[in-house]
Order: sequence, then structure tokens, then C-alpha cells
Amino acid sequence: MGDCDDAVHRLYHFLDGELDDRKRADIKRHLDECNPCLEAFDFEAELRVVIAQRCREQVPDRLRERIAQAIQHESIHPEGGGGLPTL
Ligand SMILES: [Zn+2]
Repeated sequence: MGDCDDAVHRLYHFLDGELDDRKRADIKRHLDECNPCLEAFDFEAELRVVIAQRCREQVPDRLRERIAQAIQHESIHPEGGGGLPTL
């Protein structure tokens, strides 16, 4: 599990579309074998969808703050609870 930090870090770039196909494949392989990273990935991916949808209708600052806090909480307590934080 030593490469998890690196994998999670790369997930952000993956989500931003900054990785090439080979690195994408590496991450996909890691996600297949590593549940914590897969959950982190799902969480981030879902947030992106929510944010993208809400941005079209203008996100209230308060919601943006709560999302930022949830992401921060997730990175400070990566194993806390195991489920998605309630937004
Ligand atoms: Zn991992």
C-alpha cells in the first residue's frame, strides 16, 4: 500500500485530464486493487459532477465552502468512517 499517497495525488491530475494514457492505465490498475483509493476516487469524481452541475446554476459560496471542508476532512481523516461525508 506504499504507493497510495502517490496514487491519490495522481488521481487529482487524472480527474483534471492531465495524465497521458499510460499513467491513466497505471492508476486504473491501482484502483482495481486498492479499495481506499477507489473510494477516494469515487468521492472526488462525484464531487466534480456535483460542482460542474451546480456551477451552471451558480454555486452559493456556502456550498462551495462545505465541499472544500469535506475534501479537507477527507484528506485529514482518510479512514474516518469509511463512507461519504454528509454534505
Ligand atoms: Zn491505494
